[in-house]
Amino acid sequence: MALPLQPMEVINMIIKPKVRGFICTTAHPTGCDVSVQEQIDYVANQNISGDGPKKVLVLGCSTGYGLASRIVSAFGYGADTLGVMFEKPATEKKTGSAGWYNTRAFEKKAEAKGLFAKTINTDAFSDEAKTAVIDQIKAHMGKVDLVVYSLAAPRRKDPKTGEVHSSVLKPIGEPVTRKTLNTDTGVVSEVTLEPANQDEIDNTIKVMGGEDWELWIEALDEAGVLADNVKTTAYTYIGKELTWPIYGHATIGKAKEDLDRAASAINHKLSEQYGGEARVSVLKALVTQASSAIPVMPLYISLLYRVMKEHGTHEGAIEQIYRLLVEEFYADRDPILDENGRVRVDLKELDEQVQSEVEALWHKVTSENLNEISDFKGYQSEFFRLFGFELPGVDYDADVDPQV
Ligand code: NAD
Repeated sequence: MALPLQPMEVINMIIKPKVRGFICTTAHPTGCDVSVQEQIDYVANQNISGDGPKKVLVLGCSTGYGLASRIVSAFGYGADTLGVMFEKPATEKKTGSAGWYNTRAFEKKAEAKGLFAKTINTDAFSDEAKTAVIDQIKAHMGKVDLVVYSLAAPRRKDPKTGEVHSSVLKPIGEPVTRKTLNTDTGVVSEVTLEPANQDEIDNTIKVMGGEDWELWIEALDEAGVLADNVKTTAYTYIGKELTWPIYGHATIGKAKEDLDRAASAINHKLSEQYGGEARVSVLKALVTQASSAIPVMPLYISLLYRVMKEHGTHEGAIEQIYRLLVEEFYADRDPILDENGRVRVDLKELDEQVQSEVEALWHKVTSENLNEISDFKGYQSEFFRLFGFELPGVDYDADVDPQV
């Protein structure tokens, strides 16, 4: 005799942001749903035509640029998507992570549209992740025609040696003293960062360089799950003088240079075997969980947002990825490449006038005039929105079930 089904216990809670340094340890499921819907609505309003990707793998699919890539693929081109992320589900006492809620919302909305949308929550650097993804592609997608590499991680366990490598955010060569902003207190001060040693540089390249991207493409190729004309891209940031000492010319910049090496090797292989291509795509600075952890970036972004909003050129993740996929990778011409073979959608940020205005403000900014001369309010609001807070129409005093 069948036992009567036990109703699942639903423990509702009122969820408020709990910010610790540059992370928020809570996330709001309804707010994350609204934020995913806003991005879907943006794409739906664009009137995208022409051929695009149909079977897409997104590595780092749950937040920031990876999530936007998944949304443009699914809702712009009707693509089936498989995602890999590293997120926390909710427990009875704690909310899930924002990426967890974003992904549940994305899957629900994509499935409602009749699209395949599955996500594997695992360490993308592991061999097991590659095997699990290949199994899913074989079972549900056949082959993939676009692979987006959008991981941002502080450490990586090398699948061959088992060694755990940690990245550092440090300058190279000389110590660097730069203005920085404590986003909790709104205090602008100076920070001195000591240069990395060679070991730290090598470890950062291990984590954020191109090796894992190459391993993914190798595994997918060997398993026979790459489609003809397959495209792959990995994301990078270049920036200008203000951020070079801590980004472009620093440890993370070195790791990103290694992406160029990997892109060229992968491009060679894919173009010969599949008529495909591999490109590094350069994106603009944006408030994400990854960028808020980088010293100097929150202050730079607060000033940049102010200037770009004044110029009418401000963009978020979805606008950037829309331009990248629709106007570059899947346009009716080949993508426009820079001298290193990269696709650029960061040029509005690097515009000379924009940079010189940001630089002028950079020299002036203090704790006292921060709100007046920067868009710190906009920065903070974007930061809360990453975790599903400050979204319009959400009742943040209502009890919600965190275990979606
Ligand atoms: P993000 O923190 O919003 O997203 C990172 C993603 O990686 C998440 O989906 C997370 O779950 C996933 N992830 C992290 N570790 C993982 C692991 N071990 N296994 C599986 N998944 C894992 O980051 P983002 O800012 O969107 O950055 C994505 C890429 O874009 C990075 O390469 C970053 O350098 C690049 N980029 C970012 C900016 C920016 O300003 N934020 C600008 C240009 C380029």
